[in-house]
Amino acid sequence: MVSTALVVLFVLATTSAILCCALTLAWLHFGRQRHALTWALAYGGGTLQWALNAVTLVLLPGHPAMILLGALLILTNSSLIAIGSRQRAGLRPYVGRFASGVAITGAAIAVVMLVFQHFGMRIAITNLYIASMTVIAIMAVLPQKHRARPPEIAFMVMLAIFGMYQLALAALGITIGAEADPAGIDRFRAFLVLGLPPIHIGTGIATLFLLAGDLADGVRALVTRDPLTGNLNRRGIEQAAVGAIANARRHGRPLTVVMSDIDRFKRINDRFGHAAGDRALIAFADHVHASVREEDLFGRMGGDEFCLLLIDITPADAAAAIERTRQELQQLEISGLPGCSITASFGIAAFDPGDVGFGDMLHRADIALLEAKMEGRDRLVVAPTPKPRISGTEVR
Ligand code: GH3
Ligand code: MG
Repeated sequence: MVSTALVVLFVLATTSAILCCALTLAWLHFGRQRHALTWALAYGGGTLQWALNAVTLVLLPGHPAMILLGALLILTNSSLIAIGSRQRAGLRPYVGRFASGVAITGAAIAVVMLVFQHFGMRIAITNLYIASMTVIAIMAVLPQKHRARPPEIAFMVMLAIFGMYQLALAALGITIGAEADPAGIDRFRAFLVLGLPPIHIGTGIATLFLLAGDLADGVRALVTRDPLTGNLNRRGIEQAAVGAIANARRHGRPLTVVMSDIDRFKRINDRFGHAAGDRALIAFADHVHASVREEDLFGRMGGDEFCLLLIDITPADAAAAIERTRQELQQLEISGLPGCSITASFGIAAFDPGDVGFGDMLHRADIALLEAKMEGRDRLVVAPTPKPRISGTEVR
């Protein structure tokens, strides 16, 4: 059994070392994100811990100080996984609280081991602590504002498996009892030898997958988001519109696009400077975005031009809502520009089953917007419904 245990400890130590290197490289090359470094430290600590377990097994079997040191390392490493998950989510890492948790649990393990000499309880306490760290990590990774993406789901599923495995180990530990009967220890070791390597490697791969997924999301956001207002840019809106149009077509539901453009925006730049103009753009974007529902799409098409894609709404209903938004602009406060108000013009167009793509309805909204500008600005114009086409030719 000793040789099997040694082989497993060797596998765990080497895979931990490989994952530590991979995560350190990810930290170095993926923008030096703190959580990548924390996770690298966790796997570096894992290498130490498994190596120490191997040394203890060969040279000092059952030595209390070595067992306690090994337990402290396991507690610290599992805490680092939870801390890294909180850092990734932008939550306070509470390093002090985790350190206290490790100290208190370590003290409990020492008391159980040295005073009560209860073998099973020592194991149960350690594994229960690790299971609680997986719960904290899962809760941190669970997204609040968007649906969980595949790398996040993979990470949470692997952590859930890891946590449940730790609970099973804790339960097995309790069945071993204080005296550590040999049959119980054999059961426990068999469960450990068969389960830990694949779950350990799986969790490591899921961690790397999560970092790579975050990197891909960052690149996608760079391509589809407007850095000034944080909303979708033209490409982002165009991409999102494909799905919205397909849905409207499939279910025969209305879909309305609204193009808006701030009136005489150049004057704000000229009078107050470019930075003040930027703040006006942000205030305008926030105001218009806040006036629509979560399922509607909103983005900056460029300059002072913004686009709304209103799902399941007719142009008449959209016009009523946009009219309110337009009137409320009088009260819009722009930071650093007290008393300065802006107006905007809006062009509204409906999706038409004859439209080939987003460009068609956008074109009609653009013409309506131009009309609003030409009629004196600070108003909205609804584009007429296009005439029905037969075999691609317009009916006259
Ligand atoms: P109109 O009523 O006809 O729309 O007049 P306008 O002055 O608003 O004209 P237009 O929409 O063509 O001008 C847009 C201006 O927005 C031109 C450019 O200087 C300014 N602009 C474009 N991007 C930015 C930006 O990111 N920040 C700031 N501050 N200004 C920008
Ligand atoms: Mg303008």
